[in-house]
Amino acid sequence: MKTKNKSIIGIVGVSIAMSLAVLLSDPKPLNTNSNELQGLMLHCSASPEGRDVRATEIANFHTRTRSRGGRGWKKPGYNDVLELNALVNLISYNDDTIVQVSEIANGAVGYNRVLRHVVYVGGMDSSYSYAKNTLTHFQDSVLKVYIFNFLEKYPNAWILGHNQVAAKACPSFDVPAKLRFYGVPERNIYKKPKLSKRNEKKLDSLVFRALDGL
Ligand SMILES: [Zn+2]
Repeated sequence: MKTKNKSIIGIVGVSIAMSLAVLLSDPKPLNTNSNELQGLMLHCSASPEGRDVRATEIANFHTRTRSRGGRGWKKPGYNDVLELNALVNLISYNDDTIVQVSEIANGAVGYNRVLRHVVYVGGMDSSYSYAKNTLTHFQDSVLKVYIFNFLEKYPNAWILGHNQVAAKACPSFDVPAKLRFYGVPERNIYKKPKLSKRNEKKLDSLVFRALDGL
């Protein structure tokens, strides 16, 4: 009897310890008032399905002056670009947890100091009229490996889509659902959209003009 009680107490103790460990190791809410790397944001280039847009073209578009048809940004919007057939680095970074100024990409206003940004080429249908998940088999498998590599370095980080913090369709798919399909742990799946109900309703109508746009 004594042994039985002890083992029950032991089991209860272990369960409590495990629950506490899960709670304590859960990623913290995104704190944008920081320079600590807290997550990875997924984007699409908002270019038509099948169009072979290269990383250099994206960088060019982002940094060209507005008068010459660009965005006029000082730096490109993404750290890495998943082209149709290659993964290309645009803004280099190291493996520590601090986001240095040189490592910042202009991916999402208000979140750039705390997130890394990766984009896949595509995200629109071939007639360029609606948002569409156009991930190719190559992009899909590389993106999965990319995300798991990121989580290996940053086990407490969030993975999220641009459309979870802005009224945009980008990256043209449901990021939490995709991450679950990849087998990403639930604790790393960002699920707290900061959009107001009104903005959420607006999402569909904003799809075209609010995409990142190439
Ligand atoms: Zn985006």
